[in-house]
Amino acid sequence: MNVTELVAHFAQTFGRQPAFVARAPGRVNLIGEHTDYNDGFVLPMAIDRDVTIVGAPRDDRVVRLRSANFDDEVGFSLDRIAKASDGAWSNYARGVADVLQQAGFDLRGFDGVIYGDVPIGSGLSSSAAIEMATLMAFAAAGSPLTLDGAQAARLAQRAENQFVGVNCGIMDQFISSLGKAGHALFIDCRSLAYELTPMPAGVTVLVVDTSAPRSLAASAYNERRAQCEQAARMLGAPALRDVSVEAFEQRRSELPDLIARRAAHVVYENQRVLDAVAALRANDVRTFGRLMNESHDSLRDLYEVSSKELDAVVEIARSINGVYGARMTGAGFGGCAIALVDDDQVGALTQAVAQEYPRRTGRQPKVYACVASDGASWRAL
Ligand code: ADP
Ligand code: MG
Repeated sequence: MNVTELVAHFAQTFGRQPAFVARAPGRVNLIGEHTDYNDGFVLPMAIDRDVTIVGAPRDDRVVRLRSANFDDEVGFSLDRIAKASDGAWSNYARGVADVLQQAGFDLRGFDGVIYGDVPIGSGLSSSAAIEMATLMAFAAAGSPLTLDGAQAARLAQRAENQFVGVNCGIMDQFISSLGKAGHALFIDCRSLAYELTPMPAGVTVLVVDTSAPRSLAASAYNERRAQCEQAARMLGAPALRDVSVEAFEQRRSELPDLIARRAAHVVYENQRVLDAVAALRANDVRTFGRLMNESHDSLRDLYEVSSKELDAVVEIARSINGVYGARMTGAGFGGCAIALVDDDQVGALTQAVAQEYPRRTGRQPKVYACVASDGASWRAL
């Protein structure tokens, strides 16, 4: 649904004209996987898929929202924000309202129609997109939100952690808030320092959703976290972020083999993110692609969080001319893989994935060609 259609949907639903459109994008992480909980580095970009809210302020302290995706309508009072049942889409909006008020902001009610083309539950962070879009809608409705983009992101994360009850890191909200067209965002997950880095012209990030269930993901995730903590402890470091490649290699033999392999992934992956940022600055897309490949191989062989589906996408992508690099993205075991590809080879790569992936895995892929896009914003209609 485009904005014109959403305006018509709003008029039909609420019997008046909307006054604003607010939006926030989904994201994909280009490199820096399983580094966030080690206080390390990540490099996501915002994608050209958004959650959009077309709305108008109300004179009372009520928020009424219609979801065009779910064909559902809810209303709640800002004086008493109750949680809807677990899994209900409106909890993301309720949570944002709740944390904003707890942070001391005086909110204004509004009517809104919400629609998103960020695939839901695929790992492209439709959740951060709906959170940041809701925050923007409150600003658009006239709530005096004196927040910079980083502060807004931290509140949205708090909504997901504390209200929705999902223990996500800061990356998703940060990039949805602070992304910029044509750029990736380098984030230091310890200090939350960040820096936009230009993406090379003429390349596309092709995202392939493997459509594979992520059954092992939760237990493996907790196990990997514990192994990283053990490695840091044995190396006498606050976190693996504090261990350089050189320092690690000097003491690697002190660690049990499995712990050493897990730590090696994180230590080298942090360095790869720094090298990837340098490559972007130098407009060196080949080096960037090679680092993506090394990241995947490390996640597959050392960290052991890939899957046959993710490996299949990566192998298919690497066999196509004009592909600089390919890797799994996200926590692993399922979800999405990405490839960095010349614009004029997007068709060839898409076709190869559509033909080869089902043959190799028995599953149907979903393919999204993405370009780096602007973070959350709103405008008057
Ligand atoms: P992901 O962030 O990977 O897409 P999550 O499970 O974290 O997956 O978040 C998905 C949830 O976010 C959905 O189940 C829904 O509750 C909410 N959501 C996302 N997009 C929308 C939307 N367009 N409209 C309403 N709710 C949405
Ligand atoms: Mg999410």
